[in-house]
Amino acid sequence: MKIVKKEFGSYMTNCYIVDSGEVQIVIDPGVNAYEWVMKNTSNLKAVFNTHGHFDHVYDNYKFMNDDLEIYIHKDDSFMLKKDPFNLLKEGSKASFLAQDKDEFRVGEILVKFHHFPGHTPGCCILEVACNGKKAMFSGDFLFKNTIGRYDFPFSNSNDMRDSLLKVAKFKDEMPLYPGHGENSTLQTELKNIEFYLARM
Ligand SMILES: [Zn+2]
Ligand SMILES: [Zn+2]
Repeated sequence: MKIVKKEFGSYMTNCYIVDSGEVQIVIDPGVNAYEWVMKNTSNLKAVFNTHGHFDHVYDNYKFMNDDLEIYIHKDDSFMLKKDPFNLLKEGSKASFLAQDKDEFRVGEILVKFHHFPGHTPGCCILEVACNGKKAMFSGDFLFKNTIGRYDFPFSNSNDMRDSLLKVAKFKDEMPLYPGHGENSTLQTELKNIEFYLARM
């Protein structure tokens, strides 16, 4: 599994390409990510969104024109049509509405949705497994040294608390690729959960 990353837009949102060697998927194609993605893929099969905020789904519509399938958690699909900040250039529509623990196979790439609402209603960590390796794409739920905001329209601090308690139980260690900023590892970030909970 090869993972490449580039920041897009004024919020410097991370867009990721996951490559099995045979097929590729893109995670969170943000503002004008399309050209870079097309340049760096040869057999792109699907678009996955960690959540529905505009800076993570902005270029979805361009991939729809290529007949690519779009996957997002069902509780954030409404944001693809009209995002809460009204900043989308063009809306998009998901081909698959995921629920917690749903798994989707794209060639050799297996993507599992872990639902962690709070930042948005359908915010997820995408656990990606490929060629014996695993990684987590945490969107705006977990970052290196911080967590996502839960004061936006459609955010919910009680859900965020429950999500932090839920993720704290994860025992596996694997690389963590957040929606903004640098990479980390899951267990490194889980060490800080108590600190965040105490401040909520
Ligand atoms: Zn967000
Ligand atoms: Zn974001």
